[in-house]
Amino acid sequence: MRIVLVGPPGAGKGTQAAFLAENLGIPHISTGDLFRANISQKTELGRAAKSYMDAGNLVPDEVTIGMAEDRMKQADAAGGFLLDGFPRNVAQAQALDAFLSGQGAALDAVLDLEVPEDEVVKRIAGRRICRNDSAHVFHVSYAPPAVEGVCDTCGGELYQRGDDTEATVRNRLDVYHRETEPIIDHYKAQGLVVTISALGKVAEVTSRAMAALGRDDQAA
Ligand code: AMP
Repeated sequence: MRIVLVGPPGAGKGTQAAFLAENLGIPHISTGDLFRANISQKTELGRAAKSYMDAGNLVPDEVTIGMAEDRMKQADAAGGFLLDGFPRNVAQAQALDAFLSGQGAALDAVLDLEVPEDEVVKRIAGRRICRNDSAHVFHVSYAPPAVEGVCDTCGGELYQRGDDTEATVRNRLDVYHRETEPIIDHYKAQGLVVTISALGKVAEVTSRAMAALGRDDQAA
């Protein structure tokens, strides 16, 4: 399956993407994770992306589209993938459509995670992420780790993303409404969008998502 996950920052895309990708047996491709890996490895691409990310703005398409396509061309993505954080504007969606049709492939679904705006800010401000794996996500009040600052899953160090501050979150939400939401209409025109609520326990949202994708037989 080829799936795009879309939703505002704080909808739980990263968490759901990891579970869904595992259930569906396809790689989880997160452009945010790819940028963060490039920043920590101090690559040219990481240097180009950093200032945009710190401000909560989109990294320019020239950088982003090539990086996403390189990842989708890797062997493990030949049979499908789950895209998390890409595309994030209509130009990227058009580039993805062209890339896939060039490969004789197409998307199967666009899963839209809905969450109320006040909930988004609360979720993000308290979010803590494991340095070893960005799918290990905690929250200081909603999902605290057993030991403060330490990942329950692997013992890694928990940190707050530099772009998870309240001011940056507000900008990321504005960017989401202005740039990313229009891709939902782009994909509605192709009949690909399934919308689910992202509220509730992580496992409940995963089951809801699997059902929406017509794969409830494999839900966790
Ligand atoms: P995320 O981890 O998906 O929340 O992404 C973190 C940041 O990386 C975003 O706020 C953007 O600055 C940048 N980013 C991730 N994906 C994209 C994309 N498809 N286009 C442009 N910028 C992106």
